[in-house]
Amino acid sequence: MALQLGVVKPYTAFDCNQKLVKCTHDHERPSNVSIAIKNSCNPYFYQVMRAAVLRGQSPNRFEDARLGLGQWQKMVKSFGLGEKLGVDMSQEKRGLIPSPDYYDKRLGHHRWNYKTVYSLSIGQGEIGITGLQMANVLATIANRGYYYTPHFVRGIGNGGPLPEYQQRHYTAVDTTLFKYIIPGMQQVVDSKGGTGNLASLAQFGISVAGKTGTVQNPHGFDHATFAAFAPAQDPKIAIAVFIENSGFGGVSAAPAAGLMIEQYLRGKVAPTAKPGKTG
Ligand SMILES: [Zn+2]
Repeated sequence: MALQLGVVKPYTAFDCNQKLVKCTHDHERPSNVSIAIKNSCNPYFYQVMRAAVLRGQSPNRFEDARLGLGQWQKMVKSFGLGEKLGVDMSQEKRGLIPSPDYYDKRLGHHRWNYKTVYSLSIGQGEIGITGLQMANVLATIANRGYYYTPHFVRGIGNGGPLPEYQQRHYTAVDTTLFKYIIPGMQQVVDSKGGTGNLASLAQFGISVAGKTGTVQNPHGFDHATFAAFAPAQDPKIAIAVFIENSGFGGVSAAPAAGLMIEQYLRGKVAPTAKPGKTG
């Protein structure tokens, strides 16, 4: 979204400045978008979102944050977040992508700024996302910018999917920009130091593009998440794995996703001695 707004270029560098927000990883300098994604650098994305939100659209700094967050929220929602997707199954949840009105109601008009909401930049704070929405975001990136409403029923009789499941939903981000995101996601999994390396299927010549996550949990240990798609250049599967109370996403969720992708793409799971894989 920051690329779409033109406030960040693929080669933009930000420092891993831990005075802004803690970075859980010790890593090389995030001197471009790919390196920042590969290392899941919290301070980098704090600064990316700050550049996207605070754009000097109003001389009043509170109003500036308000305008910027409103535009940010609309763009995020174009990825199928913060609303029901319209799945052919009951009890779907909306999740939450907070709007300026949301903070106005809780904190008062012009009583909050970017420093109040920066946790959103690293997917924390008030953000609520369902597992299905997360997988759908990965499918959207895999498709380079659009998704079909997820559906369980592929067709009835000889008919294909219902018309509403054949319609492409394009995001507010130009389809040409996704190519700047995907190499970093491949490095998350494929590179030795990548945070999702335990999902790697490099031994089968398959490149997996993914992103780890660690969900803060007020009730106990953090939840581990890993979301991915594969093969990176010709995607066939998108997946989101959440494992409750198991800590950092790369350790438990990534290998589970790797096994499921392997089963889906190869029709079997090879018995290997790969760390984290038990067959
Ligand atoms: Zn960092």
